[in-house]
Amino acid sequence: MSMEINTVAVLGSGTMGGGIAQVCALSGCRVILYDITPEIVYGAVERLRASIHKGVELGKTAPDAAAGALERLQPTANLKDCAPADLVIEAAPESIELKRDLFRDLEPDLASRAVIASNTSSLSISVLAGATKRPEQFLGLHFFNPPVLMALVEVIRGARTSDATLEAGLEFVRALGKTPVVCRDTPAFIVNRVARPFYGEALRLLGENAADPATIDSLLKSAGFKMGPFELMDLIGLDVNFAVTQSVYHAFFEDARYRPHPIQQRMVQAGMLGRKTGRGFYEYP
Ligand code: NAD
Repeated sequence: MSMEINTVAVLGSGTMGGGIAQVCALSGCRVILYDITPEIVYGAVERLRASIHKGVELGKTAPDAAAGALERLQPTANLKDCAPADLVIEAAPESIELKRDLFRDLEPDLASRAVIASNTSSLSISVLAGATKRPEQFLGLHFFNPPVLMALVEVIRGARTSDATLEAGLEFVRALGKTPVVCRDTPAFIVNRVARPFYGEALRLLGENAADPATIDSLLKSAGFKMGPFELMDLIGLDVNFAVTQSVYHAFFEDARYRPHPIQQRMVQAGMLGRKTGRGFYEYP
């Protein structure tokens, strides 16, 4: 089966949803961008507009392609407006209850042929799919941050994802100009599973006063990483990173290797979430 995907609804317009919407709109899709309040979604559109214009300034995007992408973008705070979507990509907070409630609210309005995808970093695609009446038409499409720059997309097959849905997901990712990799539905899939010790060990070193964040970051960069763990946590958002860490820890029945760190918990509770709040391990005035 080859599925026509012309209209994409993106649920959640934060760090990932905004970027995914940008990638889809630039590739020629009509994009319905949903968030819970008009203020949030219009704020996201402003960031997206600035990012697309920056692409034009840098010569990466043709001016008419930028104008077309912005025309194809429809922001909304009404979930029912997502009804025309051929594909839904959910990028709401990393909470299983929140995501499952969202799918239950949305599904009755969707066309029966529509495919639903989650951008979750760590939650089970099979469990999320179980909240819908179409688990065969449900899969994971895990983009990386920032979606505009990162080529890799994990395409996750849930226990009941059909071959046709998986194929449609792979085709869609390739049409965006990205590189898909098929993953099994295991906790945190491939990249986030491999990355857990990168953050966890760095936080333990910090907790033991072995070195400060800047020193640990520069050591890892000197070993070949593009970013250090603290810079990366600030980019991802400490709340998101902490939620993923907790989810992986519990998914492995509290395996000590994945144990979250109190430093990160305290920072989340204090609202020091990284770049998005102007302060994390570093300051962003
Ligand atoms: P974020 O906090 O930046 O954005 C989440 C957005 O969802 C916010 O705009 C919020 O208003 C909105 N939201 C809240 N409740 C909602 C609801 N009921 N319905 C729809 N939207 C709602 O988070 P993010 O970093 O964009 O992460 C979103 C998802 O993407 C998570 O599942 C996360 O694990 C995953 N992810 C994050 C990264 C990253 O680096 N930040 C990378 C890959 C995947």
